[in-house]
Amino acid sequence: MSTAPNDYASSRYQTPSIAGDYTALTDKQAQLLAIASDLGRNKFAPRAGQIDRDAVFPFENYSDMHAAGLLRICVPEQYGGWGADFATYVMTAAEIGRHCGATALTLNMHVSSTMWTGFIADDLDMTPAQRTSHEKHRALHYRRIVEQGKVYSQPFSEGGAAAAGKAPFGTLARKVDGGYVVNGRKIFASLAGAADYYGILCTLDKPGATQRDALYLAVDRNLPGVTVSGDWDPLGMRGTVSRNLLFEDVFVPDAERLMPEGMYAQAALRWPHMFATLSPTYMGIAQAAYDFTVQYLRAEVPGMPPVKRRMYPTKQIAVAEMKVKLEQTRAIFLQNARVARVDPSKEIRLGLLAAHYTIMENANEICRLAVRTCGGQSMLKTMPLERMYRDSRCGSLMLPWTAELCIDRLGRECLYEAGERDEPDVL
Ligand SMILES: Cc1cc2nc3c(=O)[nH]c(=O)nc-3n(C[C@H](O)[C@H](O)[C@H](O)COP(=O)(O)OP(=O)(O)OC[C@H]3O[C@@H](n4cnc5c(N)ncnc54)[C@H](O)[C@@H]3O)c2cc1C
Repeated sequence: MSTAPNDYASSRYQTPSIAGDYTALTDKQAQLLAIASDLGRNKFAPRAGQIDRDAVFPFENYSDMHAAGLLRICVPEQYGGWGADFATYVMTAAEIGRHCGATALTLNMHVSSTMWTGFIADDLDMTPAQRTSHEKHRALHYRRIVEQGKVYSQPFSEGGAAAAGKAPFGTLARKVDGGYVVNGRKIFASLAGAADYYGILCTLDKPGATQRDALYLAVDRNLPGVTVSGDWDPLGMRGTVSRNLLFEDVFVPDAERLMPEGMYAQAALRWPHMFATLSPTYMGIAQAAYDFTVQYLRAEVPGMPPVKRRMYPTKQIAVAEMKVKLEQTRAIFLQNARVARVDPSKEIRLGLLAAHYTIMENANEICRLAVRTCGGQSMLKTMPLERMYRDSRCGSLMLPWTAELCIDRLGRECLYEAGERDEPDVL
């Protein structure tokens, strides 16, 4: 696989920070963005084409991210991580998405396992006994990540209503002495066959179980009863290798409980930004499509004949249109990052859904404008733009917050306050 630099070194166009105004960054944010940018330009971007063509997992990128410390970005500092907060993580993830969408999207699955068990769990109500057991368990997982570079994934989709938050997970965990016996099937499990541990969401198997009985377990991929199945030849995000996982009578020890029983339901209710970590990847793709367009029209894309197109008024108008959409997207992305917290107000929750929807939809729209503006040669397989275009289409399909579900919830919650019902004769 080629690792030749592909950083448009000859370009005079200064690619802007994904975070807009650089001066507003903390030292930690600037440091992490610099690491992500360096790896992205010099390692991930040159590999991205082949990963996409072959639909293979970006193992080399993961070795690089482990070496650079990015796998432990949201591991709390006391456990040897960077202790990045929500805003710091999403900006770093967006910078990675700028260079390889599949790497950023899969990193999100891994990082979520540390974010949910890290600063999000710190904000939740637990009994002293739950807190003690959580500290013990998460120390084990963080040690694996920090010391051995182990990778976690996050399969929750099952093809039913559970991933949309409308029904209990169909994958069941039966409590037995020393652990749980897990049975079920997950679809679209990014990092299938690549992650060391699958951080699955399942339901505690008991009579009358509801969504509140969701359980978050780490399943070692080598355990007996764990199998990967199905083909993987999708439109976009091909490097995520999101195949199916089957769990048949898999014994999972107690120590693999990533959060105490019942805690996932509390997190989902009180820390809704936990589901907003998919969109940074797409913020990065939007920026990349814009960067490509500017460089293309300036005839500064490596491998292209030096034919400038920037002097045509129609191109200038098209780029201006893209820039407007990009800055709208960035503004809402950064605003959303700043306000993430436990127990957000209704306005923050609605703003979050609006932000997620906007980033996912605008990323695809900016890629569409980029292809139309740059023209025929830009969509050849030798150029990264057609991959960005395909990858960008995937964002708004992803549960729990597809574009449709965001609109659905926004419409309802804009018009109804908590607990409000219509009189029967109004319906
Ligand atoms: C590249 C990629 C990587 C992925 N990686 C992962 C992963 O790592 N882990 C994981 O768990 N999942 C992952 N997913 C899966 C993703 O989150 C969805 O579960 C998957 O795309 C579901 O597709 P579907 O068409 O089967 O969904 P369906 O559930 O059939 O939904 C189809 C559409 O119907 C709408 N819809 C669904 N439910 C409702 C409802 N109750 N009310 C109204 N409308 C509804 C939604 O808009 C949805 O887009 C990934 C998906 C993609 C594309």
